Amino acid sequence: MKIVEIFDSIDGEGLRTGQTATFIRLAGCNLRCSYCDTLYALFGEDEPCEYTEMSIDEILSRVNKQYKRITLTGGEPLLHKDSAELVSRLLKDGYEVNIETNGAVDIAEFSAKVGDVSNMFYTIDYKLPSSGMSERMIWDNFLSLRPCDVVKFVVGSGEDVNMMKSVMDRLSEKYDVMPHIYAGVVFGEYEPQKLIEHIMNEPVLKDVVFQLQIHKVIWNPEERGV
Ligand code: SF4
Repeated sequence: MKIVEIFDSIDGEGLRTGQTATFIRLAGCNLRCSYCDTLYALFGEDEPCEYTEMSIDEILSRVNKQYKRITLTGGEPLLHKDSAELVSRLLKDGYEVNIETNGAVDIAEFSAKVGDVSNMFYTIDYKLPSSGMSERMIWDNFLSLRPCDVVKFVVGSGEDVNMMKSVMDRLSEKYDVMPHIYAGVVFGEYEPQKLIEHIMNEPVLKDVVFQLQIHKVIWNPEERGV
């Protein structure tokens, strides 16, 4: 598998914020978001990507056996043909796996390949207009989520807020028990206070959890491997 980096840190966002985890970052992505902060993990003419070919056994030997928590990320980790087997092996070894995926790859197909997904959850982005990638969202991905999964919005404009509200309307109609919903801002593009005001004042957003990417507060935002 094409591995950009494996490192231990705390989860900087989402359901396990602040908890220790081993991060496995895979190379390559099928999207190009305007605010991407992991260009070093993408393939492209202007985007050199340094990676190491590793077998699943080699990857397993590198993960932290004390933490027992994995965050599989990228790039887009579901594009790799061996990702399902890697996740399956991690789950069998007793790790809880958080899969960060971009909303533009079929997750049902991936879950079917993994088999027993009870100790894994998705953190799935819904890409809003300011990302430039909202047309690429596969709506079916958002219809088969479990209460343990996470939908994540990154807001960079007023237009983004409007789309987030309409997505939340559709999700509320679909689910009796919603997946977790997290929302943050594109730093420097949208004021966190404004997003919090929307969450507080718009009924459809009342259960959205506001988040800051705490690893970017604790460490230099440009720093890798944290
Ligand atoms: S999906 Fe993630 S890794 Fe891919 S371009 Fe967008 S922000 Fe970057």
